[in-house]
Amino acid sequence: MSVNLKESIVLLVETYLVEKTKYFTGNDLANHIRNAIPDNVREILGENDRYYVKGSAGQSDWANVPWVSILDRTVTTSPQNGFYLVYLLREDGAGLYLSLNQGVTNLKEKYGRSVTDVLRVRAADFIAQLKFQHKDSIAGPIDLASSKKGSLGDLYQHGAIYSIYYEKGKIPDNSQLEYDLVSFVDLYLKMVVNQSVSDGSNVEEDEAGLDVEDGTKLREHKRIERNQTLAKKVKKLQGYKCSACGFDFEQKYGEIGKGFIEAHHLTPVYKIKGKKVGFDPLKDFSVLCSNCHRMIHKTQFIDKVEEFKAHYVIE
Ligand SMILES: [Zn+2]
Ligand SMILES: [Zn+2]
Repeated sequence: MSVNLKESIVLLVETYLVEKTKYFTGNDLANHIRNAIPDNVREILGENDRYYVKGSAGQSDWANVPWVSILDRTVTTSPQNGFYLVYLLREDGAGLYLSLNQGVTNLKEKYGRSVTDVLRVRAADFIAQLKFQHKDSIAGPIDLASSKKGSLGDLYQHGAIYSIYYEKGKIPDNSQLEYDLVSFVDLYLKMVVNQSVSDGSNVEEDEAGLDVEDGTKLREHKRIERNQTLAKKVKKLQGYKCSACGFDFEQKYGEIGKGFIEAHHLTPVYKIKGKKVGFDPLKDFSVLCSNCHRMIHKTQFIDKVEEFKAHYVIE
């Protein structure tokens, strides 16, 4: 008697806007989103404790954008943070996305109005790393027809890394939906593995002595600095000599050191709360050698290279 993923999704897309006008508590479609769709997803993923699947049609009243999320327990236990896969229904009911997306709630608390910038930069960075190949996938922002700026729906739009869109009335057959889901789970896993490798480098040691919140902010800071597009611009504009100690990798190491320098983000995401995060490659970044970069993070002059130089760099 159980329905497959396609039938479950069609029911959601076809009837949500109508059901949304009815009483929320005990509504069958709301239960369908909480139970049947997650069951379909679980069945496709097989016995796999790694993934936590949850659907929501809203808390005490209908959500504008109902969702079914798939979380890797090694990354996050809540859709409020980290990154995850999620089915998102457009607010106007015109279609459904399957999206590799970012947790927005915690970031919103941290960055306030700058959160959309942060989400987009992070998404672009992930896209550059992942280079997902799927003929129907969309890289970057999606359109959930979200009516309110800063709402959850709006933030999901900016947080999208890779997505697939299923238009109402043109939802592909069940095997295609299953294929897409499995491809996205593979992509998600690849991202999780990448993430732990790239975060493992210096961060653990640098994080020692920081509380959880500052540790998270430090990781954010590093993620911004690792954005390849931005870092390239910074280096092109500011050159390859350390702005604190003058170290020049090419001079020291020859050919292999050519073009090597680190971009350091000056807007202290890491220290100040709620301030607008800047991404100007000239104003908001500085170039530092690896040693100075690690040292400046140990001081109170994260945003002031000149002061760092005056206080700490012994010539
Ligand atoms: Zn240096
Ligand atoms: Zn830095």
